[in-house]
Amino acid sequence: MMSSVKVECVVKGSALVGEGPVWEESDQTLLFVDIVGQKIHRWSPTTNHIQSMQTGDMVGFAVPRRSGGYVAGVGRSIVAFDWSNQTMTSLAEVDTDKPKNRLNDGKVDPSGRLLAGTMGRMSPLEVVERKQGALFSLASDLTVTKHFNQVDISNGLDWSLDQQTFFYIDSLALTVDAFNYNTHTGHMSNRHVVYHMEEGEGLPDGLTVDAAGRLWVACFNAGRVINIDPTTGVRLQTVSLPAMKTTSCCFGGPDYSDLYVTSASLGLDQSERRDQPLAGGTFRVTGLEVKGRPSNSFSG
Ligand code: CA
Repeated sequence: MMSSVKVECVVKGSALVGEGPVWEESDQTLLFVDIVGQKIHRWSPTTNHIQSMQTGDMVGFAVPRRSGGYVAGVGRSIVAFDWSNQTMTSLAEVDTDKPKNRLNDGKVDPSGRLLAGTMGRMSPLEVVERKQGALFSLASDLTVTKHFNQVDISNGLDWSLDQQTFFYIDSLALTVDAFNYNTHTGHMSNRHVVYHMEEGEGLPDGLTVDAAGRLWVACFNAGRVINIDPTTGVRLQTVSLPAMKTTSCCFGGPDYSDLYVTSASLGLDQSERRDQPLAGGTFRVTGLEVKGRPSNSFSG
């Protein structure tokens, strides 16, 4: 039986680069960022109310923190921020030898450790300077570990159901990769490819793992999210969205059966903007007949 998949634009805010959706179970809201718009947003599906906070620099990600508030990647700083009084405190700096770099996607592992990657930029535009990025982790004691460098655009990030595999994307490689992962130590090894992007699938960007252990990968410049079985490397499903620059996705909603997808409007020319009036919006996909998992909060 075919399910009826429905796509609706739920936040029409037209972000420059909408990114990093995270479902917050405690208050049933969707947290996401606008990287180039330098804002963190929090949207409630129940009230349709959106709260926003300025970050003063490009913000790659924002995630909840167990002790309260949030942690975000702003420029090259990992900061703690308090929504109620709109203040930010630096917890750590990365890539201190590379002032043009900035933090991109970040996510918290099942032990509460934050993983976040960087990318190089040809300032002032968002043109990538290749092989300048790296992947870092921040432990609960705020120790920073660099896992590897030579990254073009650090993206992806999520873990398998048994927590022993870490899924990762370096977008310009056009692959979805996996590492063996030790969630107690954060050690990763045995990098290997689980999926090669096919013609027309664009650049792999953000990803999320569903409750069946399968991957949902946002395809930048291809207006779609693809569902991949990481054990076979087979694409199981494609969901089309009315915005070509689809950037990231997460499951949310009362029972985690809604897939939220962010998108970008930056870089579209006039005719593309005409064809994609919803570009930069956040979308909700329903009817997928699969559920997601709760997000993890930073333990530091
Ligand atoms: Ca991204």
